[in-house]
Amino acid sequence: MTKTILVICDGLADRPIRELGNKTPLEVAKTPNLDQIAIDGISGMMHPVDVGVRPGSDAAHLALFGYDPKEYYSGRGPFECLGIGMDLKSDDVALRANVATLDEQGEIIDRRAGRIDSTQSVVDYLGEIEIDGVKFIMKPGLSHRLGLIVRGNGLSHLVSNRDPKKVGVLPSEVKALDDTAQARFTAQVLNKFAQAVTGKLKDTSFNQERISQGLLPANTILFRGAGRLPNNLPSFKEKYGLHSAAIAAGPLYRGIAKALGMNIIFFPPQAGVTGKPDSNIKAKIDKAIELTSEYDFIFVHIKAADSLAEDGNFLGKVEFIEKIDQAIKSLVDHPEILVAITADHTTACELKIHTADPVPLTIRGLGVRTDDLQAYSERECVKGQLGHIRGIHLMPILVDILGLSTMYGA
Ligand code: ZN
Repeated sequence: MTKTILVICDGLADRPIRELGNKTPLEVAKTPNLDQIAIDGISGMMHPVDVGVRPGSDAAHLALFGYDPKEYYSGRGPFECLGIGMDLKSDDVALRANVATLDEQGEIIDRRAGRIDSTQSVVDYLGEIEIDGVKFIMKPGLSHRLGLIVRGNGLSHLVSNRDPKKVGVLPSEVKALDDTAQARFTAQVLNKFAQAVTGKLKDTSFNQERISQGLLPANTILFRGAGRLPNNLPSFKEKYGLHSAAIAAGPLYRGIAKALGMNIIFFPPQAGVTGKPDSNIKAKIDKAIELTSEYDFIFVHIKAADSLAEDGNFLGKVEFIEKIDQAIKSLVDHPEILVAITADHTTACELKIHTADPVPLTIRGLGVRTDDLQAYSERECVKGQLGHIRGIHLMPILVDILGLSTMYGA
């Protein structure tokens, strides 16, 4: 059976940039290997969630795996928590959280407590907290982040964020987003939880130590993205019959893959797979090729083009795309593998945000139709035979190329 590698380059697509002669970073970057995949394959433009919808990475990834986010997505929290190795029950409400610094008036000075390198001491100190019969379970994530699970009876994920995503203001009061007793109760216990942890963290020895070192104390927890795991979520194997693996450094992407029952592949620290611009992308692509002996479908996530664009660093994005291209050479050398290369959304360097612009998609494999494209870019892929598709169409197209689709009608 033909094996498939799906490479999702986060935030790869862009808008024209004046300093780059009104070209995008993907157009400016020298990408002979991505271009070769486009020459050998079929291309088009993909609207990750829908036409004119600005996609979040979480919703876009679900769509690209064929799970309509309108049906399956309730918030980012559960995927972040799964991605850092927390176990979620179906009734749990999960949130993403970060430690932050409040001043004497309770206003936020820093949303990341001076980019503290770990939340382990905060989580250890707080332990498991119980309020009104509801348990609050925390686990450290990367640097200032942590996962927060709210477990108990009568809860709802339809609550607003405590994190206002800005400084110089008080943390937001958590509010019910619908008119149910469950949402009101959940908002109430989350507010009590926030108050309790802020009180407990005020004079801890580790915060005293941080202050004496001239560092900002981690004296509160901000949280957002409340959600629940959809309990009707079919696994990737159930949906497509494909045994799958995921190569991703970021907790969100690992969490989505885990929710779909994909096997998460870990690298030793010395492999240098970091999810940052310095990440060893070649190791990821080469590992994916190696895994085709064991798995039917391998998802590879490459993060940094998005982070660089969110910093407005278009030259860094150009350089990183050229690094992706070097790693893609290994796929050019394996024509027997079905390869799809795309992005989960456009991240516009000039705006430093995700936009709704469609993203380039190329599919290459034995027996796949080809078109007349000469390069892999936003401008070129629009001329491709795939035309414009929605993210949710990608998996059905791949499954049909693999000869695994069922006939509609007789
Ligand atoms: Zn993304």
